[in-house]
Amino acid sequence: AVPAAVTVAIGRAAQRGTLIKGGEALERLARVDVIGLDKTGTLTVGEPRIVGVRFADGISEAEGQRFLEIAAGLEARVNHPLARAVVRYVGGSVDIDDVAVEPGMGVSGSVGGLRVVLGNDAMLAEAGVRVAEPGARATLVHLAVDGKHVLTLQAEDVVRDSAALALGELRGLGVAVHMLTGDRVEAAASVAGELGIVGDAVHAGLLPAGKMEFIRAMQGAGHRVAMAGDGTNDAAALAQADAGFAIGSGTDLAREAGDIVLMSPSGSLALTAIPDAIRLARRAVRTMK
Ligand code: ADP
Ligand code: MG
Repeated sequence: AVPAAVTVAIGRAAQRGTLIKGGEALERLARVDVIGLDKTGTLTVGEPRIVGVRFADGISEAEGQRFLEIAAGLEARVNHPLARAVVRYVGGSVDIDDVAVEPGMGVSGSVGGLRVVLGNDAMLAEAGVRVAEPGARATLVHLAVDGKHVLTLQAEDVVRDSAALALGELRGLGVAVHMLTGDRVEAAASVAGELGIVGDAVHAGLLPAGKMEFIRAMQGAGHRVAMAGDGTNDAAALAQADAGFAIGSGTDLAREAGDIVLMSPSGSLALTAIPDAIRLARRAVRTMK
Protein backbone atom coordinates (compact mmCIF):
# COMPACT_ATOMS: atom_id res chain seq x y z
CA ALA A 1 0.00 0.00 0.00
CA VAL A 2 1.10 3.56 -0.62
CA PRO A 3 1.97 5.25 2.70
CA ALA A 4 -0.49 7.96 3.72
CA ALA A 5 2.30 10.56 3.93
CA VAL A 6 3.00 10.03 0.22
CA THR A 7 -0.64 10.37 -0.80
CA VAL A 8 -0.97 13.53 1.27
CA ALA A 9 2.20 15.08 -0.19
CA ILE A 10 1.21 14.29 -3.78
CA GLY A 11 -2.24 15.75 -3.15
CA ARG A 12 -0.81 18.90 -1.61
CA ALA A 13 1.59 19.37 -4.54
CA ALA A 14 -1.26 18.88 -7.01
CA GLN A 15 -3.24 21.66 -5.35
CA ARG A 16 -0.33 23.98 -6.17
CA GLY A 17 -0.19 22.84 -9.79
CA THR A 18 2.72 20.40 -9.36
CA LEU A 19 1.82 16.98 -10.71
CA ILE A 20 4.04 14.27 -9.17
CA LYS A 21 3.65 10.99 -11.05
CA GLY A 22 3.59 8.58 -8.10
CA GLY A 23 5.24 7.62 -4.82
CA GLU A 24 8.53 6.43 -6.32
CA ALA A 25 9.01 9.78 -8.06
CA LEU A 26 8.37 11.51 -4.72
CA GLU A 27 10.94 9.34 -2.93
CA ARG A 28 13.59 9.93 -5.61
CA LEU A 29 12.87 13.65 -5.45
CA ALA A 30 13.54 13.73 -1.71
CA ARG A 31 17.14 12.61 -2.27
CA VAL A 32 18.14 15.06 -4.99
CA ASP A 33 21.40 16.99 -4.40
CA VAL A 34 22.12 18.34 -7.92
CA ILE A 35 19.81 20.00 -10.44
CA GLY A 36 20.33 20.82 -14.11
CA LEU A 37 18.11 23.59 -15.48
CA ASP A 38 17.50 24.26 -19.15
CA LYS A 39 17.77 27.92 -20.14
CA THR A 40 15.24 28.76 -22.87
CA GLY A 41 11.69 28.28 -21.57
CA THR A 42 12.79 27.09 -18.12
CA LEU A 43 14.99 29.77 -16.51
CA THR A 44 13.63 32.23 -19.06
CA VAL A 45 9.97 32.91 -19.82
CA GLY A 46 10.29 31.18 -23.19
CA GLU A 47 8.82 34.00 -25.23
CA PRO A 48 11.91 35.36 -26.95
CA ARG A 49 11.63 38.45 -29.13
CA ILE A 50 13.60 39.07 -32.28
CA VAL A 51 15.58 42.23 -31.54
CA GLY A 52 17.63 42.50 -34.72
CA VAL A 53 18.35 41.09 -38.17
CA ARG A 54 21.68 41.19 -39.97
CA PHE A 55 21.79 40.39 -43.69
CA ALA A 56 24.88 39.14 -45.44
CA ASP A 57 26.60 41.63 -47.75
CA GLY A 58 25.01 42.27 -51.14
CA ILE A 59 21.48 41.16 -50.30
CA SER A 60 18.75 43.40 -51.69
CA GLU A 61 15.72 44.44 -49.69
CA ALA A 62 13.44 42.20 -51.77
CA GLU A 63 15.73 39.20 -51.34
CA GLY A 64 15.98 39.93 -47.63
CA GLN A 65 12.20 39.91 -47.26
CA ARG A 66 11.97 36.61 -49.17
CA PHE A 67 14.67 35.07 -46.93
CA LEU A 68 12.80 36.19 -43.80
CA GLU A 69 9.65 34.52 -45.15
CA ILE A 70 11.64 31.34 -45.81
CA ALA A 71 12.81 31.42 -42.17
CA ALA A 72 9.21 31.83 -41.01
CA GLY A 73 8.09 29.03 -43.34
CA LEU A 74 10.68 26.68 -41.82
CA GLU A 75 9.52 27.52 -38.29
CA ALA A 76 5.80 27.49 -39.03
CA ARG A 77 5.24 23.97 -37.75
CA VAL A 78 8.07 23.78 -35.21
CA ASN A 79 7.14 23.73 -31.51
CA HIS A 80 10.00 25.76 -30.03
CA PRO A 81 10.05 29.21 -28.38
CA LEU A 82 12.46 30.53 -31.04
CA ALA A 83 10.26 29.18 -33.82
CA ARG A 84 7.26 31.10 -32.47
CA ALA A 85 9.40 34.24 -32.17
CA VAL A 86 10.52 34.05 -35.80
CA VAL A 87 6.97 33.43 -37.09
CA ARG A 88 5.61 36.34 -35.04
CA TYR A 89 8.38 38.69 -36.16
CA VAL A 90 8.18 38.03 -39.89
CA GLY A 91 4.41 37.85 -40.32
CA GLY A 92 4.16 36.20 -43.76
CA SER A 93 5.77 32.92 -44.76
CA VAL A 94 6.73 30.77 -47.74
CA ASP A 95 5.70 27.09 -47.96
CA ILE A 96 8.69 24.82 -47.38
CA ASP A 97 9.05 21.16 -48.45
CA ASP A 98 10.79 18.31 -46.61
CA VAL A 99 10.88 20.15 -43.27
CA ALA A 100 13.10 18.31 -40.76
CA VAL A 101 13.62 19.46 -37.17
CA GLU A 102 16.93 18.86 -35.36
CA PRO A 103 16.25 19.32 -31.63
CA GLY A 104 18.80 21.63 -30.03
CA MET A 105 20.07 22.85 -33.41
CA GLY A 106 17.38 24.09 -35.78
CA VAL A 107 15.32 23.11 -38.80
CA SER A 108 15.93 22.48 -42.51
CA GLY A 109 13.93 21.98 -45.70
CA SER A 110 13.80 22.84 -49.37
CA VAL A 111 12.09 25.49 -51.45
CA GLY A 112 12.17 25.79 -55.23
CA GLY A 113 14.79 23.04 -55.34
CA LEU A 114 17.15 24.94 -52.98
CA ARG A 115 18.20 23.58 -49.61
CA VAL A 116 17.42 25.96 -46.73
CA VAL A 117 18.91 25.54 -43.25
CA LEU A 118 18.01 27.57 -40.15
CA GLY A 119 19.53 27.33 -36.69
CA ASN A 120 22.70 27.75 -34.65
CA ASP A 121 26.25 27.56 -35.96
CA ALA A 122 26.36 23.78 -35.43
CA MET A 123 23.23 23.39 -37.58
CA LEU A 124 24.78 25.40 -40.39
CA ALA A 125 28.15 23.66 -39.99
CA GLU A 126 26.37 20.35 -40.58
CA ALA A 127 25.26 21.78 -43.92
CA GLY A 128 28.83 22.87 -44.65
CA VAL A 129 28.24 26.56 -43.93
CA ARG A 130 30.53 28.48 -41.58
CA VAL A 131 29.28 31.57 -39.73
CA ALA A 132 31.33 34.04 -37.72
CA GLU A 133 29.53 35.23 -34.56
CA PRO A 134 31.30 38.16 -32.98
CA GLY A 135 30.57 38.42 -29.26
CA ALA A 136 26.85 39.39 -29.13
CA ARG A 137 25.01 38.23 -26.02
CA ALA A 138 21.82 37.43 -27.92
CA THR A 139 20.69 34.02 -29.09
CA LEU A 140 21.51 33.81 -32.80
CA VAL A 141 19.51 32.06 -35.51
CA HIS A 142 21.21 31.86 -38.90
CA LEU A 143 19.70 31.09 -42.29
CA ALA A 144 21.65 29.48 -45.14
CA VAL A 145 20.13 29.24 -48.61
CA ASP A 146 21.79 26.97 -51.16
CA GLY A 147 24.93 26.66 -49.03
CA LYS A 148 25.33 30.41 -48.37
CA HIS A 149 24.77 32.27 -45.10
CA VAL A 150 22.20 34.98 -45.90
CA LEU A 151 20.94 36.35 -42.59
CA THR A 152 21.14 36.17 -38.81
CA LEU A 153 18.28 36.89 -36.43
CA GLN A 154 19.05 37.99 -32.87
CA ALA A 155 16.63 36.86 -30.17
CA GLU A 156 16.36 37.86 -26.53
CA ASP A 157 14.30 36.32 -23.79
CA VAL A 158 13.78 37.51 -20.21
CA VAL A 159 14.65 35.60 -17.06
CA ARG A 160 11.61 34.46 -15.05
CA ASP A 161 10.86 36.72 -12.07
CA SER A 162 10.89 33.70 -9.79
CA ALA A 163 14.20 32.26 -11.01
CA ALA A 164 16.61 33.99 -8.61
CA LEU A 165 14.46 33.16 -5.57
CA ALA A 166 14.02 29.54 -6.69
CA LEU A 167 17.77 29.06 -7.19
CA GLY A 168 18.47 30.61 -3.77
CA GLU A 169 16.05 28.18 -2.14
CA LEU A 170 17.55 25.23 -4.01
CA ARG A 171 21.03 26.14 -2.79
CA GLY A 172 19.60 26.51 0.71
CA LEU A 173 18.33 22.94 0.42
CA GLY A 174 21.87 21.79 -0.43
CA VAL A 175 21.10 21.29 -4.11
CA ALA A 176 23.89 22.34 -6.50
CA VAL A 177 22.56 24.33 -9.46
CA HIS A 178 23.77 23.87 -13.07
CA MET A 179 22.53 25.46 -16.29
CA LEU A 180 22.28 23.15 -19.31
CA THR A 181 21.61 24.81 -22.63
CA GLY A 182 21.94 24.25 -26.33
CA ASP A 183 22.49 27.97 -26.81
CA ARG A 184 25.87 29.54 -27.46
CA VAL A 185 28.17 30.29 -24.57
CA GLU A 186 27.81 34.11 -24.77
CA ALA A 187 24.00 33.96 -24.50
CA ALA A 188 24.21 31.33 -21.77
CA ALA A 189 26.70 33.40 -19.74
CA SER A 190 24.45 36.45 -19.92
CA VAL A 191 21.45 34.67 -18.34
CA ALA A 192 23.61 32.61 -15.96
CA GLY A 193 25.43 35.72 -14.72
CA GLU A 194 22.11 37.38 -13.89
CA LEU A 195 21.28 34.36 -11.72
CA GLY A 196 24.64 33.86 -10.06
CA ILE A 197 25.37 30.65 -11.95
CA VAL A 198 29.08 30.86 -12.66
CA GLY A 199 32.15 28.98 -13.82
CA ASP A 200 31.82 25.29 -14.49
CA ALA A 201 28.12 25.30 -13.51
CA VAL A 202 27.32 26.83 -16.93
CA HIS A 203 27.10 24.22 -19.70
CA ALA A 204 26.46 25.72 -23.15
CA GLY A 205 26.28 24.38 -26.68
CA LEU A 206 24.86 21.04 -25.52
CA LEU A 207 22.94 18.76 -27.86
CA PRO A 208 20.06 16.78 -26.31
CA ALA A 209 22.43 13.83 -25.76
CA GLY A 210 24.90 16.18 -24.05
CA LYS A 211 22.28 17.23 -21.50
CA MET A 212 21.57 13.58 -20.79
CA GLU A 213 25.31 12.79 -20.51
CA PHE A 214 25.72 15.53 -17.90
CA ILE A 215 22.98 13.96 -15.77
CA ARG A 216 24.50 10.51 -16.17
CA ALA A 217 28.01 11.72 -15.28
CA MET A 218 26.72 13.37 -12.09
CA GLN A 219 24.88 10.16 -11.18
CA GLY A 220 28.08 8.23 -11.83
CA ALA A 221 29.82 10.50 -9.32
CA GLY A 222 27.26 9.45 -6.69
CA HIS A 223 24.77 12.31 -6.95
CA ARG A 224 20.96 12.18 -7.13
CA VAL A 225 20.14 14.48 -9.97
CA ALA A 226 17.05 16.48 -10.91
CA MET A 227 16.52 18.09 -14.30
CA ALA A 228 14.09 20.83 -15.30
CA GLY A 229 13.22 21.46 -18.93
CA ASP A 230 10.49 22.35 -21.38
CA GLY A 231 11.58 21.09 -24.77
CA THR A 232 12.01 18.06 -26.99
CA ASN A 233 15.73 18.79 -26.57
CA ASP A 234 15.35 18.11 -22.81
CA ALA A 235 13.40 14.84 -23.00
CA ALA A 236 16.38 12.46 -22.82
CA ALA A 237 17.83 14.33 -19.84
CA LEU A 238 14.43 14.42 -18.10
CA ALA A 239 14.10 10.66 -18.54
CA GLN A 240 17.66 10.01 -17.27
CA ALA A 241 17.25 12.23 -14.19
CA ASP A 242 16.28 10.81 -10.80
CA ALA A 243 13.59 13.49 -10.81
CA GLY A 244 12.61 15.21 -14.05
CA PHE A 245 10.62 18.45 -13.80
CA ALA A 246 8.77 19.20 -17.05
CA ILE A 247 7.41 22.68 -17.67
CA GLY A 248 3.74 21.91 -18.42
CA SER A 249 3.44 24.47 -21.21
CA GLY A 250 6.40 22.84 -23.00
CA THR A 251 6.35 19.99 -25.50
CA ASP A 252 4.37 16.73 -25.13
CA LEU A 253 7.62 14.78 -25.18
CA ALA A 254 9.02 16.73 -22.22
CA ARG A 255 5.79 16.19 -20.25
CA GLU A 256 5.89 12.44 -20.94
CA ALA A 257 9.58 12.15 -20.03
CA GLY A 258 9.21 14.05 -16.74
CA ASP A 259 8.38 12.57 -13.33
CA ILE A 260 6.89 15.86 -12.22
CA VAL A 261 4.92 18.32 -14.34
CA LEU A 262 4.66 22.01 -13.41
CA MET A 263 1.17 22.82 -14.64
CA SER A 264 0.88 26.62 -14.28
CA PRO A 265 0.54 28.64 -17.49
CA SER A 266 4.03 29.55 -18.72
CA GLY A 267 3.75 33.28 -18.02
CA SER A 268 2.75 32.82 -14.37
CA LEU A 269 4.82 29.73 -13.61
CA ALA A 270 6.84 30.18 -10.41
CA LEU A 271 10.07 28.18 -10.45
CA THR A 272 9.89 28.13 -6.65
CA ALA A 273 7.54 25.18 -7.27
CA ILE A 274 10.75 23.13 -7.64
CA PRO A 275 12.23 23.78 -4.15
CA ASP A 276 8.65 23.60 -2.75
CA ALA A 277 8.29 20.09 -4.20
CA ILE A 278 11.67 19.00 -2.84
CA ARG A 279 10.76 20.21 0.67
CA LEU A 280 7.40 18.47 0.48
CA ALA A 281 9.06 15.23 -0.67
CA ARG A 282 11.70 15.31 2.06
CA ARG A 283 9.05 15.91 4.73
CA ALA A 284 6.92 13.03 3.42
CA VAL A 285 9.86 10.64 3.35
CA ARG A 286 10.86 11.64 6.91
CA THR A 287 7.30 11.01 8.10
CA MET A 288 7.34 7.51 6.62
CA LYS A 289 10.36 6.44 8.70
P1 ADP B 1 17.85 25.54 -24.85
O1 ADP B 1 18.69 24.39 -24.42
O2 ADP B 1 18.37 26.84 -24.30
O3 ADP B 1 16.38 25.35 -24.53
P2 ADP B 1 17.81 24.50 -27.57
O4 ADP B 1 18.66 23.32 -27.21
O5 ADP B 1 16.40 24.22 -27.89
O6 ADP B 1 17.97 25.67 -26.46
O7 ADP B 1 18.45 25.21 -28.83
C1 ADP B 1 19.83 25.50 -28.89
C2 ADP B 1 20.12 26.48 -30.00
O8 ADP B 1 19.81 25.86 -31.26
C3 ADP B 1 19.25 27.73 -29.95
O9 ADP B 1 19.85 28.73 -29.17
C4 ADP B 1 19.18 28.10 -31.41
O10 ADP B 1 20.32 28.83 -31.80
C5 ADP B 1 19.17 26.75 -32.11
N1 ADP B 1 17.81 26.27 -32.37
C6 ADP B 1 17.16 25.24 -31.78
N2 ADP B 1 15.93 25.07 -32.27
C7 ADP B 1 15.77 26.04 -33.21
C8 ADP B 1 14.70 26.42 -34.08
N3 ADP B 1 13.53 25.79 -34.11
N4 ADP B 1 14.93 27.48 -34.89
C9 ADP B 1 16.08 28.14 -34.88
N5 ADP B 1 17.11 27.83 -34.10
C10 ADP B 1 16.97 26.80 -33.27
MG1 MG C 1 14.17 24.92 -23.46
